[in-house]
Parts: sequence; structure tokens; C-alpha cells
Amino acid sequence: MAGPGTAQERLDLIATLIARELVAEVCSIYVRRAGDVLELFATEGLRTDAVHATRLMVGEGLVGFVAAQAMPVALADAQAHPLFAYRPETGEERYSSLMGVPIVRGGRVLGVLVIQNQTQRNYGEEEIEILETTAMVLAEMVVGGDILNLDAARNDGETAALPQRLEGVPLSPGLTMGVALVHRRRVAIERMLSDDPELEKERVRLALDALHIQLDEALERPEISAAGEHRDVLETFRMFADDRGWMRRIHEAIGLGFSAEAAVQRVQEDTRMRMAQANTALLRERLLDFEELTNRLLRQLVDDDDDAMQLPENAILVARSLGPAELLNYEPGVLRAVILEEGSANAHATIVARAMGIPLIGRLNGLLSRIETGDEVLVDAENGVVYLRPGDEVTANFELALAARGERLEAYRSLRDSPAVTQDGTQITLLLNAGLLADTNHLKETGAEGIGLYRTEIPFMMRESYPDVATQAAFYARVIEDVGDKPVVFRTLDIGGDKALPYLQGGAEENPAMGWRATRIALDRPAMMRHQLRALITACRERELSVMFPMIAQVSELDAARRLLDMELERAVGLGLAVPAHIRVGVMLEVPALAMQFENLLPRIDFLSVGSNDLVQFLFASDRGNPRLEGRYDVLAPAVLNFLKKIADSCRDSGTQLTVCGEMAGDPVAAMALLGLGYERLSMSAVGVGPVKAMVRSLSLNDLVGYQARLLHSSAPSIRRHLRGFARDHGVEV
Ligand code: PEP
Ligand code: MG
Repeated sequence: MAGPGTAQERLDLIATLIARELVAEVCSIYVRRAGDVLELFATEGLRTDAVHATRLMVGEGLVGFVAAQAMPVALADAQAHPLFAYRPETGEERYSSLMGVPIVRGGRVLGVLVIQNQTQRNYGEEEIEILETTAMVLAEMVVGGDILNLDAARNDGETAALPQRLEGVPLSPGLTMGVALVHRRRVAIERMLSDDPELEKERVRLALDALHIQLDEALERPEISAAGEHRDVLETFRMFADDRGWMRRIHEAIGLGFSAEAAVQRVQEDTRMRMAQANTALLRERLLDFEELTNRLLRQLVDDDDDAMQLPENAILVARSLGPAELLNYEPGVLRAVILEEGSANAHATIVARAMGIPLIGRLNGLLSRIETGDEVLVDAENGVVYLRPGDEVTANFELALAARGERLEAYRSLRDSPAVTQDGTQITLLLNAGLLADTNHLKETGAEGIGLYRTEIPFMMRESYPDVATQAAFYARVIEDVGDKPVVFRTLDIGGDKALPYLQGGAEENPAMGWRATRIALDRPAMMRHQLRALITACRERELSVMFPMIAQVSELDAARRLLDMELERAVGLGLAVPAHIRVGVMLEVPALAMQFENLLPRIDFLSVGSNDLVQFLFASDRGNPRLEGRYDVLAPAVLNFLKKIADSCRDSGTQLTVCGEMAGDPVAAMALLGLGYERLSMSAVGVGPVKAMVRSLSLNDLVGYQARLLHSSAPSIRRHLRGFARDHGVEV
């Protein structure tokens, strides 16, 4: 595998060697392509012109059967088998017996490895074992991308998989073309084989010891020590880790010549396949525990480097789902787009994609089974359409759409220095949501008036360890310097939920969005909050400082957070350090209960910012990150708008500055609805500023207010359609 030559030459050589070693006349390697096609990629013994020409569907013929069942097949008289499918171009009519094993990796069948003999041969257990072992090595070569890249390079249109068009939900706008990179959460194994079994067994033993220590430490942590679900999971882990059967099978694999990590992985594949057959929920859960344990053990054994994946230029990242931290692992600028089987509009990965200006489409059903690393992809994240392996005509049309979008963006850019004022003279303040240092550049590009929400957790998520006060202060000072005389609102750490820090683990929670997150963590870990406030005070020097506390559910939490701020101010004064000229304190309104405490809340704060992403998920009891619920409840439901109207009315009466900083503020139709409710400050991702400003400048607010007031009584689940109609009839650009 590691020898010289092209991937095709190596594959051919592997086929020849296997045939020779197993005394077979034929050895063929089939690789699974998009659309569940098994293509003959190399052969010793069959006709060479069948290579890349012979194709079977998964489930078709004996080869397809092996792939569909993910099980080996060994037949002395294969032609007598009802599933035998004869392919004349291969010249296989001369062969009687057949043995095939699946090429499996990560629970997915990637291909089939077959040998055939002329005589009626009864293949033994040991021979099946040898072929399976070889298939496992081949699997590494397939996931490594070599083999399929080879196919993409040789792509002559005839053998390529067919073009496909998939529809999903646009989550972050943009149009782009590039090359697919399938994201896999796998531990990369570089050394598969070893000729020193004793050494490998010792390595497993040491890794397992380290794992035991890790598990015991986890079990001793206070949040886990009480009996509960986490404890159960960890205990299950320990049970597996102590399981002699497991260890015996790992040792057996080492005995076959595998390295420690390859042996662990092999047993993992085996277990996966066996458990997948037993179709009970309990076993499936156990399997998940087991996978996690195996991955932990693998990470002990290899220097795990998730980023080792080779990025093609123009990479379009393809995945089932993606967490925000995983997205942040990629250098800014390297990803052209992200396309997902799952994904939802208000999940943090989506927000991060918007912040990074990366087009994103979610809910693309069946995506992963239709695409391979190296495929050409067109991404239309305006309409939520993906074209896989497009033909010339589709590409030509797409280029026209790209040019049209370029013109539209240019038109938005030309609005940069024009005021955001409605036709009837209401001044609207458009602000940016930021979290990456590079975001401050968007202030100039978009003409936004300041940063309405700085998500401070994002820089924390990009680090390996907790940043000390000096590091944080330097970072905030950079932000302050970059924004110049424009205002910036720093939101204190909002971690938990789907935003995890690698170095702060609170243990798994059943309902993390409603769990230990944001200010709740900060109040339980006051030192962490104080360090952050100290860094903000230091960075601000004598300027104004605006601090916003997230996920406040009751006034007493604000009071407690405020006390920490006061302590830090007193400390700075006591030490004779510079303190901000003025401090503004605000809270996010994300928890509905807070809206029932305005009488006590509003007099205590300088500003309020509606986090509609969380607020709406709590109003509808609908997880913002759950792809199954995507699109079920609209932010433009009368229920939400009536709620938002009460907030706007109260803030107007009390003179409290009010902003919306959830994702709805950047959607021109939703932003229009907010103006109709009396909101005049909107904070959004950079991509939203141009379109929202175009909407504001073309809107007669008075006309909208009357029209929308009637709609607020509607029993419809959403008034989006009506608002679109209004915009169309009144020439509002949305
Ligand atoms: C929100 O909840 O609307 C919000 C702006 O905060 P985040 O999206 O970071 O949770
Ligand atoms: Mg929030």
C-alpha cells in the first residue's frame, strides 16, 4: 500500500499479491461509488477492460450481496447460487468458487474484495480471516481518498457517477463551486502492521491503564459522583474496559500482525457489524458507549490529529452534522461552503458559518450516500440547492447566477454609506454580531454602526486551554482598537448547550440548552467570570464598557453577576488601575420568564437585547438545533410577534434601549416585522446588513404598522407569506 507508483498501480499489485498468496486465479477489488454502485477498480484474472466498466448495485449479484449484508460469503459452487449475476465483459464464466468479504470502515461498507477459483474450492475459516484482514488494510486506502481521487482525476464522463441535484434548506447565504471533502470523525491510523506483537500488546496495556485513570478521574468529579445517568455511562465504559473477551480479541488481532491501534479498530468494526444485526435499542445504545470507549482508547494509542485531513483547494465540507467547534477547527478562508444532511437555522454551527461568510445548506437528505471526496459540487445556498458532479450546461447556468449575485452584492456595497432610514423618516440602527477578530473588518465593509453582540465564547472555543486574564485582555483590546470609535457590546461567556469548551467539561446533560450554561456556569464558577470582567476592564482602559449577561432567567441572577462586576471595579480602583469612563450593563432576553419581571428588571439595566434564537426555542419548546424541527415553528408566528411587541412596548415606556440580536434580525422579512413592532436597533451577521438596509430604505413604516397590527390577531402559524405579499405590493426590497 505504501509502495511506489500511482494508486491504480498499487491497487493492481495488491490484487496480484492477494491472488498469489491465496492461490486463487482471480482477485478483484470493487469500490463503492456514489449512488450505491460497486465498481470494479482492479483485478487479477478477470479481463482488464472490465476494470472501471463493470458495475453492480449494492444488493445485486453475489458481490452486491456481500456489500448489502456486510458479511463474508464463501461458496464452492458460486454459479449455482440464485444470486449469481453473470457479467460477460469480465470473462468470469470459467470460475466456480467465490469468496467475498466487505471492505468496511467506520461501520460503512466501502467496497468488496473477492477471490475466485476454477475448481470447486471449499474456503476455510482461516482463509476468510486472511481476506478480511486484507480488506481492512484496503479500507484505509479507500478512506484515505487515494483511490477515489484517482477516479476523479481519470474522470472521463463515461465512468463517473451520474450528476445529482439535491434540495435542502439554505442556512447561510452564498453561491459557490468547489470540490467535496467528506468530513469524518475518525481517528487516523497510519501504522497498520507490526511484527512485534509483544510490543503492541504492551502498548494496548499502557493505553488501557491511561484510559482507566481517565475514567476514574471522571467518576470522581463532583458533578458525576452522585448516582445518575453520567455515572451509568462511565460505569458501562469501565465494564467494557475490563472485559476480558474484548481484550482477548484485540490480542488475537495483534497476533495476526496488526499494530495495537489497527487491532483495536478491527475489533471495533467486528463488534459494530455484529451488534448492527441485533436490532434492539438497548444494544444500539451499548454500541454507542462502546464506540466512544474504543475511540478514546485509539486516541491514547495514536497522536490523534483530526485536522490531518488533506484539504483540497476550494473545499466544500460535507457532513451529517457539525458542531461549532468542529467548524472553527478549519482555518478561515479554506472552506468554500458546508453542506449537511442535518443542520438547522439557529444552531451555533450555522451562526459560526454565517460569521465566517461560509455558505451553508442543511437537510440534504441522503447526501452522504451520493457524494464522495473529490466530487465537483455547485452550492446554491440562496435557494438551498446542491448540484453534484454537474454537467457543462448546469455549470454554465450556475456561472450566470454567480455573476448576478456579484451584481447584487455590489448594489448592497453601494448602500454602505447611505443611512438606514425608512421612506417616512424613521432612523434604524444596524449593528453587527461578531465573535471572530476578522469580524471587525466587516464594520467598514458593511457600514454597520457598531457591534451589537460580541460573542466572547467563540475565541474561547478556538483554544486548547483556558486563556488567562492577560490573553483575554489583549484579545478584547484588539477588538476595541479595531472598532475605533464605534460601540461594541461584549457578552460574557455563553458556553454550554451546543457550545462546548474542550477544557471545561460539565458532563453530559439530558437537556443541555436548558442546562448548565452561560451565566449559570459563571455564577457557579465566579472566578471564571471575574477573570473575564477583569480582562474587559483592563482592555477598555478609560473608554466606555458595555457588558451584557446572557441567559438571565431572574433578576437575582443579574444582581449576582453585577456584584462580580462591581468587585472587579473596586479591585481595579484599589490597585490604582484605569477603569472605564462609563459602564453600561445589559442583559439578553432569551428566557421567557424574564419578560415577566420587567418591573424589577428594567430599572436595573441600561439596555436589553432580545436573543430570539433561544427565546423562540423556549417559547415553542422546540430545540433550535434539532434538524427534525427545522421549519416547524416560524419566528414570524403571531405568538412570537405578540411576545416581542410586549417587550418593545415596555422598553419604550421605560426608556430602555432595546436591540434584537438573534438571527431573525438579519432576515429582511423578519427584520421588517420587527420594525413594524417598534424595534429600531437590529444586530446581525455581516451578510445580513446590505439586504436589511435595502429593506429599511424602501419601507414606508406607517403603512406596515397598520397592516401588521391586524395580522397579529391571526390564528395562522406564520404571517411570513402575508408580509412578503405586503413587501411585493409596496415595493419593499426583501
Ligand atoms: C440568541 O439566543 O438569539 C443569541 C443571539 O445568542 P446565541 O445565538 O449566541 O445563543
Ligand atoms: Mg442565546
